[in-house]
Amino acid sequence: MGTTCVCGHAAAAHEHYRPGSDCALCDCPRFRDPEQPTSWWARLRKLLSR
Ligand SMILES: [Zn+2]
Ligand SMILES: [Zn+2]
Repeated sequence: MGTTCVCGHAAAAHEHYRPGSDCALCDCPRFRDPEQPTSWWARLRKLLSR
């Protein structure tokens, strides 16, 4: 499996001990899949912002 974030690092780099999902290797604020632009994320944000 090779799910890579738009920042160029693997999804695993965004899953670490610290809270949040920011990249552990760069300043990327959260994991974003470049192949799935915003559909799933937009839905997630909708759920979180009720
Ligand atoms: Zn990233
Ligand atoms: Zn990164």
